[in-house]
Amino acid sequence: MNPSRLCMGTLTLSPLQKNVPAEKAAQLMAYAFASGITFFDTAELYSNYSFFKELWKLGVPRGDVTVSTKCYAYSRETAHRSLEKALKEMNTDYIDVFLLHEQESIHTLRGHAEAIDTFWEYKEQCVIGSLGISTHYVAGVRAACTDERLQVIHPIINVDGIGIVDGSAEEMVQAMQEAKELGKFIFAMKALGGGHLLKRYREALAFILGLSFVDAIAVGMATEEEIDANVHAIMEERLPPHAVEKDRGIFIEPYCIGCGACVARCQQKALSIKDGKAVVDSSRCVLCSYCVSACKDFYIKVL
Ligand code: SF4
Ligand code: SF4
Repeated sequence: MNPSRLCMGTLTLSPLQKNVPAEKAAQLMAYAFASGITFFDTAELYSNYSFFKELWKLGVPRGDVTVSTKCYAYSRETAHRSLEKALKEMNTDYIDVFLLHEQESIHTLRGHAEAIDTFWEYKEQCVIGSLGISTHYVAGVRAACTDERLQVIHPIINVDGIGIVDGSAEEMVQAMQEAKELGKFIFAMKALGGGHLLKRYREALAFILGLSFVDAIAVGMATEEEIDANVHAIMEERLPPHAVEKDRGIFIEPYCIGCGACVARCQQKALSIKDGKAVVDSSRCVLCSYCVSACKDFYIKVL
């Protein structure tokens, strides 16, 4: 596996965030590809596999692109269903990287043992290129190190450790380094702390670029300007003086009934119920959008 060091995260464009039409999102991804980005990250949760189907229609060669996705499969049946969905909706006959989404520890991995066995069988048939996990936990990285079939680790890491649920940036870096020594492919998420580090853009990027053992860095991008800036910064290591300005955050509709489903879903403890409505503590939110999928009435959005 030899994708570009910069990985374009597509959550930002997905129905959970900007909800960009698939054709338009694919045009932006094609622009990223023309700029040298060959690595794209998605997830079953993001409901945007159609972006890839449109991308191939634009003439971007499937074989030149590395696609990473993630799912919550835990059994043989759910693993089979998640893989079939990805293949069908992306219009492809293989997935380069398949990750178990939001792994926390050895215990959650054990709960997904049957799915790992199933995905491994697909890997042996070359329907999946590599298996792995995504995690906001130091313990998640360490758990992946116990299974040699999990070759890819996608951990949250940034200079302040924002979003790491069970430790500091230093502890996460230590665990990532140990994983790298075992031969894992490491691709970092949320180097800008979900937007909290935009004002310290140069420092945040210098930190992640300084981790030379990190194989790739995933960054959500929604405009050509952002793609240009990140290509210069991460692929060419030419840090611009400022980040591309973004004004993003959580928006909760006044119709919220205060059921608490989103509060329970947030790993960062950024949500609570006050006076019968959900409220967000923006200082804790990393814009992961997990809460968005928890609200069956779509009253919470990341904009
Ligand atoms: S899940 Fe939806 S309705 Fe329930 S508290 Fe959250 S925003 Fe409100
Ligand atoms: S409030 Fe929502 S978007 Fe923010 S960290 Fe929690 S789950 Fe993620």
